[in-house]
Amino acid sequence: MPALHYIPHPAPVRDRKKIFPVFLPYAGCPTRCVYCAQPLATGRAAGRDLLPRAWAALRRDLEQAAAEGRSFELGFYGGTFTALPGDWAARFLGLAAEFRSPGPVTGVRCSTRPDAADPGLLGRLRDLGLEMVELGVQSFHAACLAESNRGYGPDAALAACAAVRDAGLGLGVQLLPGLPGMAPDPDGPFLRDVALALDQTPACLRLYPCVVLPGTELARRWAAGAYVPWTAAQAMDLLGRALLACWKAGVPVIRLGLAPQDGLAENILAGPWHPALGQRVRSRALFTYLYEKLETRNMRPRRLLTPRSALSDVLGHRHEMLAAWATLGLDQARIRVWEEAGFGVELH
Ligand code: SF4
Repeated sequence: MPALHYIPHPAPVRDRKKIFPVFLPYAGCPTRCVYCAQPLATGRAAGRDLLPRAWAALRRDLEQAAAEGRSFELGFYGGTFTALPGDWAARFLGLAAEFRSPGPVTGVRCSTRPDAADPGLLGRLRDLGLEMVELGVQSFHAACLAESNRGYGPDAALAACAAVRDAGLGLGVQLLPGLPGMAPDPDGPFLRDVALALDQTPACLRLYPCVVLPGTELARRWAAGAYVPWTAAQAMDLLGRALLACWKAGVPVIRLGLAPQDGLAENILAGPWHPALGQRVRSRALFTYLYEKLETRNMRPRRLLTPRSALSDVLGHRHEMLAAWATLGLDQARIRVWEEAGFGVELH
């Protein structure tokens, strides 16, 4: 019998609860960030009567979900929820509360900007039923924030993370690798951003590599040669390292790359977008993780046994990882599925 070593899967176990997204494009945003094109990214139109329309549509959706016995967490995205004008944040939370028990709403989260995370306001919204805030930090790096006209600095981003935690809310952190001023370099700002984000003890991260969308300031800079986006190879390499760091910290990454909304892909002018970006990044992180395990123990693998659920990540998009496995002497015939949750490595 060849020696067999068991290696657990590195990804933290995720509570894969369904999130029902309510997109409120640009609502509450004080400025347009240089890269942002919410209607394209979310597939929802902005407009003057956006909030009453969205509120009425949400009521209809919740009534229908209640009738059908469905349940989900509500997520308010696409704008700056904590800075919605008037009492709209309270009105949306009030509507969610109406459908809480025994209705379809199991929880409520929102995204917002770090400079709209006043502790008193967060406490009031928590009392109205908000449970998690995903902060669009984008970067903790002063020059990247300044070049992206974000309007706040690293101190404000860190203070916002603390304010969310101190309010007793779950913290999510959204980062935007490839912002203007962010070199595609393992020693550059992005992996430091990831480390700083993990220091904030978030419940989850989202990583959205920066792409150039029409109508944005970034598109103008790109056309003038003043902004060069990361290549897909650069993004996948750095995102793979970032994902592995998150796995090691036990923090789930709940989104890698923009969701493929209708019409988004055709509209991307430049930048590292790929429909299978998440899988391609997971494949790289997984290979690095297993490679490090084998190297540090000086193991020469004869066969790799993989959980069925991880096989496509092991082989990679269109089997693109086979060349990497071959460097360990593992051709496809030596990669086998087994019915365990982690990996098995048979040694020579
Ligand atoms: S990135 Fe966020 S804060 Fe900036 S314009 Fe877009 S939705 Fe608003």
